[in-house]
Amino acid sequence: TDHLLTVKDLSIAYEVPGLDIVAVSRASFDVPKGSIVGLVGESGCGKTTMARAFTRIISDNAKITEGSMMFDGQDLATLPEKAMNALRWRDIAFVPQSAMNSLDPVYRVEYQLNEVLRGRGGMTRAQAKVRAEELFEMVGIEANRLRDYPHQFSGGMRQRVAIALALALNPKLIVADEPVTALDVIVQRQILDQMRDLQRELGISIIMVTHDISVVAYICDRTVVMYAGEVVEDCDTATLLSEPLHPYTMGLKNAFPDIASAGSGTLTPISGAPPDLAHPPSGCRFAARCPFATDHCRAVSPVLEKHAEGHSVACHRAHEAAQLREKAAQPET
Ligand code: ATP
Repeated sequence: TDHLLTVKDLSIAYEVPGLDIVAVSRASFDVPKGSIVGLVGESGCGKTTMARAFTRIISDNAKITEGSMMFDGQDLATLPEKAMNALRWRDIAFVPQSAMNSLDPVYRVEYQLNEVLRGRGGMTRAQAKVRAEELFEMVGIEANRLRDYPHQFSGGMRQRVAIALALALNPKLIVADEPVTALDVIVQRQILDQMRDLQRELGISIIMVTHDISVVAYICDRTVVMYAGEVVEDCDTATLLSEPLHPYTMGLKNAFPDIASAGSGTLTPISGAPPDLAHPPSGCRFAARCPFATDHCRAVSPVLEKHAEGHSVACHRAHEAAQLREKAAQPET
């Protein structure tokens, strides 16, 4: 199979005095070559922890406790730091939520591009100059702005600079953590369009971390839904949105406006809050918030299983999903 990244039973725990917070719990999914995969879920579900694990820029108290992340024949979970460091930027690049966090305000953006192009890529000054101009052109910024400082760019432009930086050494995979979250909808759409164009043009893969299912609907080929540290559904995006199997996915769908239309229809947030990851419940983690939970759901944790080709779900009632979807669509009175 043509997978760039295969995540299998990945668990990541934060060790804090007296307890372990398992932020990612036996997560499995694939990133096909040349595709955009969304990682979606509410705040605290572990998506940032997982995304950072792909470049292993995780906190000191974070430990990968089990599982593997196979990338191009190498396991990112166990790769020695030196080899991992060689992969960063060159093979896997990261775009953070707010580019202000990755761009140093003290340096002109040209200097920061040079750090990657010359420092990491080994380019000469002349080569780096040509490449920097080319990168700015790719993301639609005039080359004369290379001499500007980060604060001279708008939020949207800064995200473009961060994308240019990520593309610098022609990586195979870009991991973007909420790359458009802080921006208004018009700018969001422009940047997502651009990411999609670049992804197609360059044939790279992108992992798009977002809490916003409308972002996923807009550009992701496949979508991995996370809840309380677990993958609860994994499917091509079109099927996921038209025939979601997990009640959490059904709920997410009703909780966000459509990015492409101007946001019509009523939005229904999912009531309640996710469980404490230091003390997760024994049954299904979504049961307390699920309108369809049974005693069995509260007692036994469902595992992620293949429901149809390319569609996995962790729900005891997935076989009844069609009826549950109808019920979910009828607002309670
Ligand atoms: P958000 O969108 O808010 O960033 P997220 O889905 O990306 O949320 P993570 O940031 O991965 O979630 O956090 C997952 C869980 O791990 C949360 O319960 C969080 O409190 C916990 N956590 C994150 N970083 C640490 C840390 N350094 N030490 C202890 N716990 C942490």
